[in-house]
Amino acid sequence: MLSVQKVWKPSNLNEAWELITSSKKEGVCIVAGGTWLRTQWEASLLPLTTNLVSLENIKEMTSITESKENELMIGSQVTLADCLEDKRLKRYTPLLIKACRKIAAPSIRNQATIGGNIYTKAGDTIPALLVERAKLVWFNGVEIEIQSIESWLIVSSIKQEVRLLVGVKIEIDEKDQVNFAFFKKIGRRETFTASLVTIAGKGSIREGRFENVRLAAGGSFSPLRLSDTELELGNQQMNLSSIHDQIISEIQANADPYASADYKKIITANIILSELDQIMKHTGKGVS
Ligand SMILES: Cc1cc2nc3c(=O)[nH]c(=O)nc-3n(C[C@H](O)[C@H](O)[C@H](O)COP(=O)(O)OP(=O)(O)OC[C@H]3O[C@@H](n4cnc5c(N)ncnc54)[C@H](O)[C@@H]3O)c2cc1C
Repeated sequence: MLSVQKVWKPSNLNEAWELITSSKKEGVCIVAGGTWLRTQWEASLLPLTTNLVSLENIKEMTSITESKENELMIGSQVTLADCLEDKRLKRYTPLLIKACRKIAAPSIRNQATIGGNIYTKAGDTIPALLVERAKLVWFNGVEIEIQSIESWLIVSSIKQEVRLLVGVKIEIDEKDQVNFAFFKKIGRRETFTASLVTIAGKGSIREGRFENVRLAAGGSFSPLRLSDTELELGNQQMNLSSIHDQIISEIQANADPYASADYKKIITANIILSELDQIMKHTGKGVS
């Protein structure tokens, strides 16, 4: 049976930092919604620590704000359900909204936070945030650090994290006139299921060419931006023949008990190709 000894609720970042660093010896864990952590504790994949630090009383972590620099800042403790209700996110980040809608059941979304979803490094919001070129806002005990989500995914696979995730920033660009955007999640059944592959993409087609295409994939493998595939698309005159192989070579999927690495790579490539083909057909050109 699970037994928790102390739950701390600091009211600001410095207090939270003090608690986390001073409780290290006895064991400490940051808890947001606790939905992912609960599965880890119940399966004995993580030890239940003496001190649980909840960040729910820290103001900058619990709201969505718009800055003068045309950025939306989503506090890390904002729930997925609250993201779904926010008018600014609906207007400027439709891919993130689609991702939140595809995560778990409504009861989980009421508790689960965007910060927790990102921090697990397997969350379905990550491909959407990669395509939006989101930046992560961290507190390192002394100051605020800003880092692109793309670079964090690379660096954090090498280095152990010792920072608090304060929130995620997304630039609002009214001039960012993309004319296509897609989000796809493939699981083993239609709803409320873990992802096999999650894909996000956006860009434009102008004068017969793909422009400013951004693609990302993740789910049951390390999420990544498909930068080489984006470049390849930019070099093509609406020709998708090399794209399938390019995606397969770029994805670093690993096998799990349900699907092989090759299967994950192939379905990712098939889905992206099918989306791009549909987009081209809408502009009067089929796949070549
Ligand atoms: C039934 C069920 C279905 C699910 N379905 C999906 C799904 O479809 N797609 C999906 O992506 N996920 C799914 N999940 C996983 C999980 O619920 C979500 O990823 C959720 O968004 C995690 O958020 P949380 O607030 O509950 O995180 P928590 O469990 O509280 O924390 C997750 C991790 O993040 C750390 N953390 C949290 N906040 C911070 C912070 N501010 N700074 C530093 N570290 C922090 C915690 O210490 C912990 O290591 C599911 C979970 C369950 C139980």
